[in-house]
Amino acid sequence: MPTAEIITIGTELLLGETVDTNTATLARSLRTLGIHLYRTTTIGDNAERIAAVIREALTRADIVITTGGLGPTIDDPTREAVAMAAGVSTEFRPELWEEIVARVAAYGRTPGENQKRQAYIPQGAIPISNPVGTAPAFIVETRDEAGGLHAVISLPGVPREMEYLLHHAVIPYLQQRFHLEEIIKVRTLHTAGVSESVIDEQVGDLETWSNPTVGLAAHSGIVDVRITARARDEAAADEMIAKVEAELRARLGEAIFGVDSETLEEVTLTQAARMGWPLAALEHGLDGALVKRLHRRPLPALLTVQETAAVQGEALRRALEDVCQAAGAKLGLAISAWQDERMNVELLVRTPQGWHSRHLTYGGHPQNLPRWAVNMGLDQLRRVLVKEAGQSGRTGF
Ligand code: ATP
Ligand code: MG
Repeated sequence: MPTAEIITIGTELLLGETVDTNTATLARSLRTLGIHLYRTTTIGDNAERIAAVIREALTRADIVITTGGLGPTIDDPTREAVAMAAGVSTEFRPELWEEIVARVAAYGRTPGENQKRQAYIPQGAIPISNPVGTAPAFIVETRDEAGGLHAVISLPGVPREMEYLLHHAVIPYLQQRFHLEEIIKVRTLHTAGVSESVIDEQVGDLETWSNPTVGLAAHSGIVDVRITARARDEAAADEMIAKVEAELRARLGEAIFGVDSETLEEVTLTQAARMGWPLAALEHGLDGALVKRLHRRPLPALLTVQETAAVQGEALRRALEDVCQAAGAKLGLAISAWQDERMNVELLVRTPQGWHSRHLTYGGHPQNLPRWAVNMGLDQLRRVLVKEAGQSGRTGF
């Protein structure tokens, strides 16, 4: 499998003014193609430094993809830098200039003299015309001492342009030139309410497989189990994933709440809606974390989320009962955090069938407490719903 590195270019990225989304977009595409991404670098608009980084990347990787720095101004240094790294100069390409003139003419203008810069690309480069912007992109192929092929692919910085050229020119080029016959597919199972170390104990033997691979990532009460399969095509990858997924589901059971882009709040509230139980929720001591989480996107079955002064026990129960009555909610969830010698979390779920409460203590960093408590609370609600759906004969998840 070929290896790759990504270099994003732009001083604005180093200043934190622009968030680098190009790296993530490219990384996902490389992953699907089965190209191993080993390193990513962000570098400012300085031709010498960029050239050095490209040269270094070429000693390690077959494919180097850069984004940014292809604009018409003097501080857009990528053309120059790639030429330096490849040991060539830049050359004027009349056909690229014609394309630029035509594109600018479409806006009823004539290109400025500085735009001519964009028609200079490294000698011998394969041009990629850019129908969604003015800056042409290009590919420079080099050979190492052993005769191995390396490619430096330079794309514009504007994410929309970058993505267009990635899909229309770069991916087809890579598949053909690097004989890519495998794809990589990823499926992520999300679990909640079980710690990473417990999950690790339950599925550790699967984590040593090489294809598909199984990997864990924990985020405050949620543990993702990522299955990655390499195969000839998607159908073969899906089949490999399905086998591992069945095994994981057998072992992890109802700890698994969703897959891929599904979120705990969506899954839980969809289940509440299915049961015809609209929800009223209360939080205490969480800095509005539950309100923010549930208001991030429209969710089914959600009537209200409020902060309450009640902390725990009977007072919290009464407050939840009151808000449920007032909102006409069949379902209630309260999540309350407070500190004595420990950090405490009380979870309270009210359903038409009764009350469920749980007391937890938190040992992590206080800053992560709200997120953790919200995840534990939503998971508690989800588990109660699964159980009660089962008891009433309704289909659960
Ligand atoms: P142009 O022809 O538009 O000048 P360019 O190739 O010179 O394109 P840049 O000038 O480096 O690209 O970046 C253009 C804009 O694209 C930046 O203002 C920034 O908003 C965005 N951009 C650049 N790099 C990235 C990146 N890595 N991730 C997300 N956005 C980026
Ligand atoms: Mg720039």
